[in-house]
Amino acid sequence: MDTTALLRSLHEIFDPTRVLTDKESLIEYGRDWTKYLQPQPSAIVFPKGTDEVVALVQWARRQRVALVPSGGRTGLSGGAAALNGEVVVSMQKMNHILNFDGFDQTVTVEAGVVTETLQRYAEEQGLYFPVDFASRGSSHIGGNVATNAGGIKVLRYGLMRQWVAGLEVVTGTGAVLHLNNSLVKNATGYDLRHLMIGSEGTLGIITQVTLSLTRPPTQPTLFIFAVSDLASVMKIYHAFKSALPILAFEMFTDLALKHVLHHHDLKAPFANRHPYYVLCEIEVPGPTVLEAALELFQSGVEQGWIEDGIQAQNARQAKDLWRLREDISEATSPHAPYKNDISVRIASVPQFLREMDAILKHNYPQFEVVWFGHIGDGNLHINILKPSAMRTEEFLRECKVVDELMFKMIEKLHGSVSAEHGVGLTKKAYLGHTRSSVEIALMREIKKAFDPDGLLNPGKIF
Ligand SMILES: Cc1cc2nc3c(=O)[nH]c(=O)nc-3n(C[C@H](O)[C@H](O)[C@H](O)COP(=O)(O)OP(=O)(O)OC[C@H]3O[C@@H](n4cnc5c(N)ncnc54)[C@H](O)[C@@H]3O)c2cc1C
Repeated sequence: MDTTALLRSLHEIFDPTRVLTDKESLIEYGRDWTKYLQPQPSAIVFPKGTDEVVALVQWARRQRVALVPSGGRTGLSGGAAALNGEVVVSMQKMNHILNFDGFDQTVTVEAGVVTETLQRYAEEQGLYFPVDFASRGSSHIGGNVATNAGGIKVLRYGLMRQWVAGLEVVTGTGAVLHLNNSLVKNATGYDLRHLMIGSEGTLGIITQVTLSLTRPPTQPTLFIFAVSDLASVMKIYHAFKSALPILAFEMFTDLALKHVLHHHDLKAPFANRHPYYVLCEIEVPGPTVLEAALELFQSGVEQGWIEDGIQAQNARQAKDLWRLREDISEATSPHAPYKNDISVRIASVPQFLREMDAILKHNYPQFEVVWFGHIGDGNLHINILKPSAMRTEEFLRECKVVDELMFKMIEKLHGSVSAEHGVGLTKKAYLGHTRSSVEIALMREIKKAFDPDGLLNPGKIF
């Protein structure tokens, strides 16, 4: 069958408005935030229910066409990129909240529900969904599950994995799996739900998700500290984490702040500039916790770890301070940043930071490097900005040399080449720095069991 006839046969499943083949849509839906990849899907389809996803997988098996599951396309590793004529399966129209169970405090949603919509829904029920990050307004719950998303509250609430009570998934054979059914306890062999979480669309298409909700934090209170060096960042972290119920502990550099202030209409937090800034959010259930926090703040100043600091006085100020951290990705995106998202054990963060700083300063003085990250999770985002005069190919070549040096160091520290963004396409070549060859071979076998024809997101992860 020629391509036109092949695509026309998709109309047996989808009405023509839900099969897009125009150039603009192919580019838009054929990639995520990894903008330097060249998208080349053959079509985009928009299922409206699980039965259509099943029919699509059966069609793909018959026609031997690869499928790329696609959420909000906010991924940062090329996981949702379609570069080789695949059909992109956008979950955009599967965006309904299906059921709320107040007794179990769970909510069941279709995979295409936007993360922020779910957060708001939880709030309306007097509850809280704690997986949170800057792309909340676009990313989908299905994408969050497929990447085991992290974010700014992991320190207190854990990753997406912690909140998934049940899943409905269509495998590469078209089988529909109902995994875990919201059970708290379920000791019946391998938990396939957890295999799906973080599988980046390679084992199945997630169609429905049941999420646990929790009570909202009591009076979150935000501090921003100005800090002179990375060793002091770690000292503040240790002091606050040991004594207080921390919700978030985020760090960014002055260069990151410079880009945010240039890009957005926000005020600098301090009169003077400082090398590093820390956002530390604490749950304050009563005056004792606040007093303890203020004492630590004072002691940090006396010991020279904190050069300056502010406690947000109201929700508006807290929101603006959060934006200084959360808007970094958007502010740096015009510079086509080459992104790394690595993690090491928290205890190894100081050594990692020292060695990384030395590598970048020694080898790449010509690049602007923006650092920020979830220090409390041992997770750092390192963004190398493309000098405007440099050609993209040359820039990428240079960045890959940085990668080699950085990932060798990560391997030495037994860390991860991808903390939360996923392997996708961009970290595929480096997987062996974090996972052994035996592990990778087992992953390949698992993929074959779920997707014997290799139709689901082929070429991603390994
Ligand atoms: C400004 C910004 C800030 C960010 N901050 C964070 C952060 O702090 N923490 C963090 O973890 N991430 C962060 N991200 C990355 C991204 O938002 C997350 O990885 C998010 O979970 C991706 O969701 P998505 O719906 O956009 O997925 P997509 O980008 O569409 O897809 C991601 C992967 O999931 C697969 N997939 C999508 N939907 C399904 C489905 N229904 N079934 C099966 N597979 C599917 C895709 O094939 C792909 O492999 C950030 C991104 C941006 C742009």
